[in-house]
Amino acid sequence: MLANYHTHTPRCNHAVGPERDYIGRALEGGLQELGFSDHTPYFFDQPDYYSSFRMRPEQLPDYVETLLGLRAEYGDRIRLFIGLEAEYYPRLFPRLLDYLRQFPLDYLILGQHALYNETEGVYSTRPTDDEKLLDQYRGQTLEALETGLFSYFAHPDLFHFTGDPKAYDRHVRAICRKAMELSIPLEFNLLGFSEGKHYPDPAFWRIVGEEGCPVVLGSDAHAPADTWDPALIAREEALLADCGIRPIDRVALHPIR
Ligand SMILES: [Zn+2]
Ligand SMILES: [Zn+2]
Repeated sequence: MLANYHTHTPRCNHAVGPERDYIGRALEGGLQELGFSDHTPYFFDQPDYYSSFRMRPEQLPDYVETLLGLRAEYGDRIRLFIGLEAEYYPRLFPRLLDYLRQFPLDYLILGQHALYNETEGVYSTRPTDDEKLLDQYRGQTLEALETGLFSYFAHPDLFHFTGDPKAYDRHVRAICRKAMELSIPLEFNLLGFSEGKHYPDPAFWRIVGEEGCPVVLGSDAHAPADTWDPALIAREEALLADCGIRPIDRVALHPIR
């Protein structure tokens, strides 16, 4: 592993440790590139709604300034990038972009943690056999990829579908084909793997291997030690090799301007 673009900070309320410690761990592992992509702030149109797993809009200036300072300090040892992990919420996304464009952001990654515009309370990780919701996840994430604003698709297998495997195959292939068409890498997520979550889902990655999509490893670090975990990376690469997948080392990032 030479690069990791999926790194959090305590601003999202469920990660721990200063940015400096994540950078230190990346240096220990010999990473050449490290991207921070904490959970984006969002502006919700219901004023009393609070989304607990992301920074608030007023924390973004400090996030960017802190990372610009660290980039100046560590620039000769590692390439640091400043990004965000964002859901695509169709009704709210334009306002978010207006705000994000005021900052020198190097990239966005797509992490679709909830469907619709989040306030409906339909979360991707909640098990369901309802194909209509899987169809919504597919449609919503493909629309996101088509904006051209996302540099990669984080844990694309986050949606926890427990229904008909044939339906699952069909929707996953549609995601893979769009990712191929747009040359957008799919992320094999180390955090899900280490915590024994429902993702990465072998059924999903077998299809990715068959379709030949570009795949990148993502630490999804919520603690400094997660940034680079050699035992985990070895296990992950073995699983991917079984699916005929050899991950790429670097991703071409699309700055938000
Ligand atoms: Zn998180
Ligand atoms: Zn993440």
